[in-house]
Amino acid sequence: MAVYNQSTQPARPISAVYKNGRRKGDSFSNLDLVIELTTRLQTTLELESLIELFVEGIQQVFQHDGASYQAPANGPSISFGQQCRHVLNYSLKVLEEPLGEIRFLRQRRFVESEVEQLENLLTILLYPLRNALLYREAVHSAFKDALTGVKNRAAFQSNFTREIEISRRKSIDLSLIVLDIDFFKRVNDRYGHTVGDLVLKNVAQAVEATIRCSDALYRYGGEEFVVVLNGTDKAGAKLLAERIRHNIEALVFSSPQGLCITMSLGVGTLSGNEDAEALFKRVDTALYLAKQNGRNRVVIAD
Ligand code: GH3
Ligand code: MG
Ligand code: MG
Repeated sequence: MAVYNQSTQPARPISAVYKNGRRKGDSFSNLDLVIELTTRLQTTLELESLIELFVEGIQQVFQHDGASYQAPANGPSISFGQQCRHVLNYSLKVLEEPLGEIRFLRQRRFVESEVEQLENLLTILLYPLRNALLYREAVHSAFKDALTGVKNRAAFQSNFTREIEISRRKSIDLSLIVLDIDFFKRVNDRYGHTVGDLVLKNVAQAVEATIRCSDALYRYGGEEFVVVLNGTDKAGAKLLAERIRHNIEALVFSSPQGLCITMSLGVGTLSGNEDAEALFKRVDTALYLAKQNGRNRVVIAD
């Protein structure tokens, strides 16, 4: 295989489509390493660990000063080592399925035999990488609400306790907002479930557009959502809750015309030795009070 791209050329494809069983030029100068690497790559489905195992595992036969991997479809990017002058850049594929791009960097120029060695080793990575990407996708969809596309209750339950532990350890504020659409049953009854679903999607979008990237929105149940605010105190959480309430009230639906939606919100900030359950209960009680007090309002938990 020809030496390519010591700095600027586009990514070269590495794919698992073989001709006559093997790729032309396939030869592994170190069979023991190949067997060991193949075995090690089968030990994880976690993307970051897999790339790390590969990048470190090949170091003894393919020396490099740095490497980076970019998962497809704006997935995560992972970097090791340092930026260098010489770059080998590969776009990885199995059949026509893109598996992202991987780059190897070095101060010293790569020679042809090394490039060939690397390209052969990269073929070992393809199927474990595909499995890791599929696994990642499966985990993501298990934590995603199918209707609105925001994180679901399972994700909330998996993340919330951990977020509380982190905020306590780092001594940063953590606030919680629990939101519930007012008289949503009437929307379904009057306009049907399809419109009800559309309202849920629009509400999720409007809340998502109001919060910061560091905040997380979850659909907790039917027409109930929660927002976890990292590094936000009581005053900040109250301000944001009012902004959400206002933005939902201001939502304009073109069809059916005249449809208006409001939400009630409970807000609370983690205090003392309170655990996840206690904080949620406190904020949920505040939401209940917001409903009792006439809806379309924010109530701060004691
Ligand atoms: P309140 O102001 O007290 O919250 O009244 P509400 O009508 O919003 O509350 P209630 O709990 O009585 O009704 C919630 C409704 O939400 C009932 C249920 O049919 C509807 N709902 C739950 N999930 C979905 C969904 O995924 N799609 C649609 N269209 N409706 C849903
Ligand atoms: Mg409701
Ligand atoms: Mg409800």
